[in-house]
Amino acid sequence: MQRFQITQGDLTTMQVDAIVNAANTTLLGGGGVDGAIHRAAGPELLAECRGLNGCETGQAKMTAGYHLPAHFVIHTPGPIWQGGAHDEDRLLAGCYRSSLALAVHAGCRTVAFPSISTGVYRFPIDCAAKIAVATIRQCLAEYRTLERVTMVCFDSHTRSAYERALEESEGRHG
Ligand code: ADP
Repeated sequence: MQRFQITQGDLTTMQVDAIVNAANTTLLGGGGVDGAIHRAAGPELLAECRGLNGCETGQAKMTAGYHLPAHFVIHTPGPIWQGGAHDEDRLLAGCYRSSLALAVHAGCRTVAFPSISTGVYRFPIDCAAKIAVATIRQCLAEYRTLERVTMVCFDSHTRSAYERALEESEGRHG
């Protein structure tokens, strides 16, 4: 089985050690995938998040998964797209890298991501997909205990963008 997978579906149903939340810096819940994760996990998740004191963009913090099938939720605020000259690329790569470092540190072997920053935060999808794929592949090479990382795309347009980015990346690096 490939260690990197792309699938279309609902992140909150994933049976993995950790799912990643495209959070905001308050970590107090929001719309999109963040709202869906909080609804599925139950109010205990928000209670734990209140004690975390927020999180900086590009970094990550971990909580339990409560009523989710996933054991842990890793919360990472993605960058808001502001035209591309505000360090957005580096910060987005930081989200994937910090989340996977935290996951490995906690002993997770399977991790699932949403498409961070490409919803309300308006990061251009092709550019975001390229950064996500490159960073995840680097982390898989580095962290041999990671068995599987899955990108869970909510719609077919997003899935196509990640599939294209993976093909291009494999073409370049094999
Ligand atoms: P951001 O604020 O980082 O842009 P959003 O939640 O607005 O985060 O969007 C990030 C991506 O997550 C979008 O592609 C959106 O369609 C997707 N999304 C929304 N709900 C879910 C879900 N339940 N599972 C997986 N992806 C989801």
